[in-house]
Amino acid sequence: MAKVNLMGMNLGEIEELVSSLGERPFRARQLMKWIYEKGAESFAQMTDLSKELRERLDEVSYLDRMRLVKRADSRLDQAAKLLFELEDGKKVETVLIRESGRRTICLSTQVGCPLGCRFCATGKIGLRRNLKAGEIVDQVVEVERLSGEKPTNLVLMGMGEPLLNYEEVLKSLNIFNSSYGLGMGARKMILSTAGLVPQIERLAKEKIKIGLAISLNATTDRLRDWLMPINRKYPLREVLRAAKRFTQIRKRRITFEYLLIAGVNDSFDDATRLAKLVKGIPCKINLIPYNPIANIKFKRPDPQRVELFKRWLYPLTPTVTLRESKGRDIGAACGQLRALY
Ligand code: SF4
Repeated sequence: MAKVNLMGMNLGEIEELVSSLGERPFRARQLMKWIYEKGAESFAQMTDLSKELRERLDEVSYLDRMRLVKRADSRLDQAAKLLFELEDGKKVETVLIRESGRRTICLSTQVGCPLGCRFCATGKIGLRRNLKAGEIVDQVVEVERLSGEKPTNLVLMGMGEPLLNYEEVLKSLNIFNSSYGLGMGARKMILSTAGLVPQIERLAKEKIKIGLAISLNATTDRLRDWLMPINRKYPLREVLRAAKRFTQIRKRRITFEYLLIAGVNDSFDDATRLAKLVKGIPCKINLIPYNPIANIKFKRPDPQRVELFKRWLYPLTPTVTLRESKGRDIGAACGQLRALY
C-alpha cells in the first residue's frame, strides 16, 4: 500500500489514521503538534509517542517537507524571500516581512497563476499547478523553523490566485487556525483576490472568519479588462457588489488594494472614480506604488504623485493607507514573485 503524506492532514484525517493503527484518538493531537507546531522532520523526533507507534507510522505514512533552495535578505528593509522546492521539483516563493513588531508571512497558493494580470511577474509564468494544503502550511512551518520566529500574521498574497485553489486553501487556513495546528487567529489572516465573485460569496459564509482584500487597481471596466483580464468575466460592478455583501455578512470591513502605476491609473479622475466606486462599502483602501519588474514596461509614480493621489482620495473615503512593499531589492515585493533563480 502506498504511504500517505501527513503534511496537510487535518485533525479528523489524522485521527482516522491513528485509529486504523489501533491507537486512541488523542494521539492525533500529539501528532498535529509535532508536524505543525514543532516542525518535526521525522517520526524519530516524536519522543512522546511509543517506539512501536512511530515504527507503524513510518510504515504507512511520511512527512513531505519542502526543501529550501535559496534565501535572499533585503538590504533595504526587514524582508526575506525564500525559494522552496516541492516534492515534484516545482518551486514557490514565500516572503517574511518584519515590521513594527509584526512578523508577517506572505504565502503562495499556486505554482504560477493563470490570471495573467499585466503588472505581475507571477502572471507571466501561467499556471503550473495548484499547491496542496500541506505545501501551503509547510511554507509557514519552514519559515518559522528557519527564522526561529513565530509569525504574527499571515497573508495569502504570494504566487497565485488563492480562490482558484479554494478547497486546499480553506483546508490550510483551518490548520493554521486550529489549536492543534498553528493556533493562528482568523483575524490575523488575510486572503487577497483578483475578484472571483462566486468564491468571494462562498468565503463570506465559511465558518472561519479571515480578512479579505480585493485587488482593484482600476476604476473603469475598460482599463481593468486590460490590466486584469479576469475583469471580463467578473466586471467591477459585480466585484463591488460581492465585496459589499461580504462586509454585510461578516460585519467587518474589507481592504481594496490599488496598485498605483504612473500614467495608467494615478490621475485625479481615477482617484475621484475610486472614491465613488467604494462609497457605501465599509473598507480601507491600500495604495501600493508599483514595483518594477523586468520585461514589464510600467513605471512607479514619483512620491509626490503618490501623496497627491492619497490626498485626493482622503476626504472622500474613510481610510486610505500607503503600503510600501517590502523586499523590493530582492524581488519579494507585491507582483514581483516568479520563483526563478
Ligand atoms: Fe495572479 Fe495575483 Fe499575479 Fe494577478 S496579481 S496574475 S491574480 S498572482
